[in-house]
Amino acid sequence: MNKQIILLPGDGVGKEIMESAKVVLNAVASEFGHRFTFHQHAIGGEAIDAYDTPLPEDTVKACKGADAILLGAVGGPKWDALPAAKRPEKGLLGIRKQLGLFANLRPIKGFNSMLHASPLKEEVIAGSDILIIRELTSGLYFGEPRERRENGNAVVDTLYYHRSEMERIIEKAFESARLRDNHVTSVDKANVLESSRMWREIVEETGKKYPDVKVDHMLVDAAAMKLITQPNYFDVIVTENLFGDILSDEASVLTGSLGMLPSASLRSDGLGLYEPVHGSAPDIAGLGIANPVGMILSAAMMLRYSFQMEEEAAEIERAVNDCLDQGYHTADLSSNGGMKVGTKEMTAAIVDSL
Ligand code: ATP
Ligand code: MG
Repeated sequence: MNKQIILLPGDGVGKEIMESAKVVLNAVASEFGHRFTFHQHAIGGEAIDAYDTPLPEDTVKACKGADAILLGAVGGPKWDALPAAKRPEKGLLGIRKQLGLFANLRPIKGFNSMLHASPLKEEVIAGSDILIIRELTSGLYFGEPRERRENGNAVVDTLYYHRSEMERIIEKAFESARLRDNHVTSVDKANVLESSRMWREIVEETGKKYPDVKVDHMLVDAAAMKLITQPNYFDVIVTENLFGDILSDEASVLTGSLGMLPSASLRSDGLGLYEPVHGSAPDIAGLGIANPVGMILSAAMMLRYSFQMEEEAAEIERAVNDCLDQGYHTADLSSNGGMKVGTKEMTAAIVDSL
């Protein structure tokens, strides 16, 4: 297949790890007979420096015409003094919004050789493999009104959802479960919130179209506890914006390092933006020691969710797992022993294993 991929390396370690993703994708392309064409554009701090805006029109236009988008990271101390509306992070929020990327997917999977790096007991987290699907463009983050009242002594936020916004994210969860273990856990607070009651109804309705997928409902407080005590219970978790924000950070402690986690932000037609969960890591930028795994696994997600290349995606994941098993560790992992390698060596080891 021939695919047009937009690269938005951004700031800090973003540039270094984007190079790794490109090298890995080229290796996959030659192994499987695909053709990936890369187009690089500016976003975040580098775009502010060059074009005086974190999200140039040219970048938005290119993304709208692409098959998929890979993003490194945005931000850094250089731009910290700018007013909120002009900061690098606005570039990322802006592109998600302008493209309508409503479904945020975060797979949380512990690598066997990294389990001891988690604060949780190895026997509890061993084998856990969870996909958290968070609604990204509605709920408390966007509802109006949001304001101070009564001379600043009272406050209002609004939890608004339209049925169509719930339907599309819940549908995405069932589709995703079919690529995995056919189990959806819907997380809500239906004992208190009206929005959660409508959410449950829609989960039930949608579930009828997927008789092969097992569904259950869990209150968010119970889910927060079970994530830590019995993570193996879960396959796909689907939830609204704020609950998803909290649960996905909580779940990241099931794995060793922030540098390992990928994410995807999708819409229904398959267009997606893929990026590591971590930020621009200004403290290690330019040193060539950043862990490229989160970025490389984000590229694997792109193959799986935007291009339906399941075999290719799984092959990248297997290669990453092999390298970790063989003891290749970037500095963020090297307190765990193993061979200490830089970004390029880690990438080369993964390509060799492909
Ligand atoms: P943001 O606000 O953009 O999410 P953050 O404040 O959460 O950023 P990060 O940039 O993610 O911070 O960095 C947090 C810590 O994790 C830093 O010490 C950084 O060096 C480390 N870190 C982040 N990503 C990586 C990586 N890919 N490899 C190694 N270390 C990393
Ligand atoms: Mg952060």
